[in-house]
Amino acid sequence: MVHNVLIIGSGCAGLTAAIYTARANLKPIVIDGFEPGGQLTLTTEVENFPGFPEGILGPELIENMRKQAQRFGAEFKAGAVTAVDLGRRPFVVTVGKDVYESKAIIVAAGASARLLGLESERKLMGHGVSTCATCDGYFFRGKEIVVVGGGDSAMEEATFLTKFASKVTLIHRRSEFRASKIMLDRAHKNEKIHFLTPYIIEEVLDVGKGVVEGVRVRHAVNGEIKTVPAEGVFMAIGHTPNTNIFQGKLEMDAAGYLGARNGTLTNVEGVFVCGDVQDHRYRQAVTAAGSGCMAAIDAERWLESQGH
Ligand code: NAP
Repeated sequence: MVHNVLIIGSGCAGLTAAIYTARANLKPIVIDGFEPGGQLTLTTEVENFPGFPEGILGPELIENMRKQAQRFGAEFKAGAVTAVDLGRRPFVVTVGKDVYESKAIIVAAGASARLLGLESERKLMGHGVSTCATCDGYFFRGKEIVVVGGGDSAMEEATFLTKFASKVTLIHRRSEFRASKIMLDRAHKNEKIHFLTPYIIEEVLDVGKGVVEGVRVRHAVNGEIKTVPAEGVFMAIGHTPNTNIFQGKLEMDAAGYLGARNGTLTNVEGVFVCGDVQDHRYRQAVTAAGSGCMAAIDAERWLESQGH
């Protein structure tokens, strides 16, 4: 069976594209991906998505979007895409043993925040550990927090978080920074930001209590161990777009982000992109949803222009 639209990814962007294409009667197929629901499922409270004056839990917002898409006929398939053939018409998308054919594809595969890989970090994610200062900074008013990383993101997040926090400790594994001079200088000048280098995070404390109380760090050279008290830990060690399967098939920048042109179009006619897989700048749920809507409209118009 040849489908009209296949959506790769089930985060905010993919689900919005699913709602729009389903309401356009295109019977979209959504491939969940390896992190069904995307980055919002790693958060707790979302207070900046318009329409929820009291806020809403990230997983609940995603569940609502999913139900909304299903109500109009979107069909969800578990699993992650293992291969795509964009050289054929219809396009061929492989998910493990299952093979799908589709006239149009919307890529909403997202990006993953890089993590340190500690079990304590994973267990306390959303309970004091965060990957998004814009989303979660507000919850740390008057509190001490830690930001991890030495690039522009870390400087930007640390500076932003001083609006809320009483003290920000920026912990980086080297004493040299990847961040641009201007952003590093701004962070250095900010009296609320304290630099701690070269230190490696060994553990986020305290898993036993289920809340963040600080981090245990080790000096990268002399091995000295100490504890930094904090109620929040923000990981700002970069993001990785989920674009491995599109290498050599869709245009991407040096960091692997897909390039959108003229809205959500790509270098392959009939393939559209939306959400964080093409956006390293805004990375917000509402911007992802907005671009998902754009991709759905672009796909619908393109299918119509092809006489489908
Ligand atoms: P990035 O430049 O790749 O920096 C990542 C930082 O995290 C590096 O300092 C790196 O340390 C550290 N890191 C990576 N893995 C780690 C690990 N496992 N443990 C500990 N530390 C780790 O990423 P980014 O800061 O997100 O920036 C990405 C791009 O966006 C850059 O081109 C940046 O200029 C741009 N950006 C621009 C702005 C702006 O201009 N407003 C804001 C944000 C981002 P090492 O240095 O030791 O490798």
